[in-house]
Amino acid sequence: MYRTHTCGELRLSDQGKKVTLAGWVQKSRKLGGMTFIDLRDRYGITQLVVDAAAPAELVETATSLGREFVIQVTGTVVERQSKNSKMPTGDIEVSIESINILNKSVTPPFTIEEESDGGEDIRAKYRYLDLRRPPLQRALALRHRLAQEVRTYLDGQGFMEIETPYLIKSTPEGARDFVVPSRMNPGQFYALPQSPQTFKQLLMVAGYDRYFQIVRCFRDEDLRADRQPEFTQIDCEMSFVEQEDVLNMFEGMMRSMFKNALGVDIPDPLPRMSWYDAMDYYGSDKPDVRFGMKIHEITDKVQGHGFSVFDSVEYVGAIAAPGCAGYTRKELDALTEWVKRPQVGAKGLVYIKCNEDGTFKSSVDKFYSPEELAGIASAVEAKAGDLVLVLCGPKRKTQTMLGVLRIEMGGRLGYRDPKVFAPLWIVDFPLLEWSEEDGRFYAMHHPFTAPKPEHEKWFYSDKKEDLERVCANAYDFVLNGTELGGGSIRIHNADMQSRMFEVLGIGKEEAEYKFGFIINAFKFGAPPHGGLAFGFDRVCALFGGQETIRDYIAFPKNNQGRDVMIDSPSLIDDTQLEELQIKTCVKE
Ligand code: ASP
Repeated sequence: MYRTHTCGELRLSDQGKKVTLAGWVQKSRKLGGMTFIDLRDRYGITQLVVDAAAPAELVETATSLGREFVIQVTGTVVERQSKNSKMPTGDIEVSIESINILNKSVTPPFTIEEESDGGEDIRAKYRYLDLRRPPLQRALALRHRLAQEVRTYLDGQGFMEIETPYLIKSTPEGARDFVVPSRMNPGQFYALPQSPQTFKQLLMVAGYDRYFQIVRCFRDEDLRADRQPEFTQIDCEMSFVEQEDVLNMFEGMMRSMFKNALGVDIPDPLPRMSWYDAMDYYGSDKPDVRFGMKIHEITDKVQGHGFSVFDSVEYVGAIAAPGCAGYTRKELDALTEWVKRPQVGAKGLVYIKCNEDGTFKSSVDKFYSPEELAGIASAVEAKAGDLVLVLCGPKRKTQTMLGVLRIEMGGRLGYRDPKVFAPLWIVDFPLLEWSEEDGRFYAMHHPFTAPKPEHEKWFYSDKKEDLERVCANAYDFVLNGTELGGGSIRIHNADMQSRMFEVLGIGKEEAEYKFGFIINAFKFGAPPHGGLAFGFDRVCALFGGQETIRDYIAFPKNNQGRDVMIDSPSLIDDTQLEELQIKTCVKE
């Protein structure tokens, strides 16, 4: 037997037991004649001690151990002289009688402890060493726990886990596809799925009315902290359901994940907000509702006072930052520069300080009387001591900028505590989004999303204004300013699906070539159906209180989409290319 216990297991109640442990040497140090060794495995750390009076050979082996050596030790559990209340095993140590070196290690390139001294690049290159660190082990353990919760809950609700193919057909809409050449069909390519969307709908046609899959999806997009070229979805679909049924089912799943993995109760039922309200009051379709600081429109209040900047725009809006009236000139200048950065994109920032003494100080004092400033402040729900921040321009664009500013101020004010959870559903999205650039509509969610039944009349209209008014039967699950999931009730009728492709400017032939299989399937008795998918990596990160998903993925890629550990992507040799009948012409 390699071990009788793990390194996280022994307590004072085990005192006197003879045990065998195996693990990695985190560190060893000499103190007086004694040698102390921290032995680590994924369950914890146990302190080992070799007494000065131990046989010389044992002392010698103990002192020769390097970091990350793999050893097996036998000894007796004893009470510690100086206890460490921060460690679960901190009351005991194991007094060692024998050490067996199972494997040596070269000196690792960074410290493998709670906090490492290694930079991101070096840790990525030696990911298997980084994965030995407790924070990453906790992250992967949380991921495992959540996956189990998902399976238990959905299995309990009669869902079947069914796999769908990875080698499918390229139908780019939205993100770019990753493609894979087919050797047996020269010149032809598979695409890796951006999601199993069409397959899960075909499973509904096939009668598997409750489907789920924890599944890898692939999108060739530019990467950010919360994006990876391959990521995991909890993908679900149900038949004979309306929006209400889907929301209830998956609210239940989230509730049980929060409860069982974190011990957190989330509201029952969850709040719901229309997309229009989310945009108007939070400037985002994924509002962070852990705090207020809502956006208020003040166009009517500020126009017609001779301030040409406000008079010439569609929309003027503001937020009130609590307790920030004391911002100095320098701080306000810095904030103005901040909103002018390309990432925010404002032209300038107007402020009103609501001083504690009831007076107002504004960058546009010249145009507004104190009473008018008080009127604006009250419209924005600002109190004495608050700072009103005003932006103006085209409506949605300005709201979005105010939304970004709101998040920034909320962060500065400490309102964005990762241990506070404020989930909600966003509903009533527009079905279509007009692109000025391309002169066509795009599906806001995806082309399989059904219009709200009461809006179907506009869906069949040829007028752009009518089509813009159509709301989708779609919903997003949002947590703390992050979209964790989304889905919709689907189109299940071949004619309506063809109409959708027509609205999206996808010609009959193209629709037939790309999506003929699904339009055709809908002709064979497709049931009404709907579903959603959660971004599992993001779920894990947010449950773990982190913004970046990388720690929750065992082997992630870097910002350039590279796996620097295995050095991929990489060139392939000429024989492989020949077999595939592919020539590359990479420009230097
Ligand atoms: N397939 C969709 C997505 O990946 C989710 C859904 O509609 O179920 O966004």
